[in-house]
Amino acid sequence: MNKSRAGTKTVVKDITAVVTASVSATVTAGASTAGTMNSAAAQSEFKLGVPPILDVFEFARREQLMVGAFDTEELGRLLDGLPLQPEVALSVLTGPPETPGIVRYIVQGQRSSVGKPQINLHVQTQLVLECQRCLGPLVFPIDRQVIFDLVRNESDLIDDPSRVDQDDLDVPEKVVGSREFDLLDLIEDELILEVPYVPRHERCPGETVAAADAESDPEEGGRPSPFAVLGQLNTKSK
Ligand SMILES: [Zn+2]
Repeated sequence: MNKSRAGTKTVVKDITAVVTASVSATVTAGASTAGTMNSAAAQSEFKLGVPPILDVFEFARREQLMVGAFDTEELGRLLDGLPLQPEVALSVLTGPPETPGIVRYIVQGQRSSVGKPQINLHVQTQLVLECQRCLGPLVFPIDRQVIFDLVRNESDLIDDPSRVDQDDLDVPEKVVGSREFDLLDLIEDELILEVPYVPRHERCPGETVAAADAESDPEEGGRPSPFAVLGQLNTKSK
């Protein structure tokens, strides 16, 4: 795992340089919505393997773009306690992965409207989790996009008390940047945040439609609707 990481380092530098040249005309800082990121990703070169250690301030200043995919197995902290993930061959992805086992990422360096260095991270994967109701495997898609302000020190992470709504999408998160920034670590942190505490199928395999509806509808106060009961009777009489 570590070997592949070190081996790809130099290659990536070249790719990001090429990517920057080819997309700088179409991707402007601050305008990187999911849509523009995807169109930029489509025309950039794709890196297979984990993202390299990079000077993230320089990456933001030069408004570079990095797009790639790597094996979910690289994420030991994320996978701790999860079921075995399938092994899939890495391939160039133009959209979200269609199977578990692979993580796709798009990272755009940019500057905020007031010139602060930022990275816009978009990460997509599917994880195999264990359903806490039927204990069967559950494929859980993750598609997370976050803009980070890059700060110099831990002390800069403390939030401005004037920030009212911490979940406001317009307010970037903060991360301590460095010249040897571990993007893989940040991606792993963001994926961990997306894993549900109690994963459950919307409808467990083998469960009837009516039973699933009755259980998943909190408005009913736990009492199954007459239609759900009727549905169960119908199933039983078959
Ligand atoms: Zn289930």
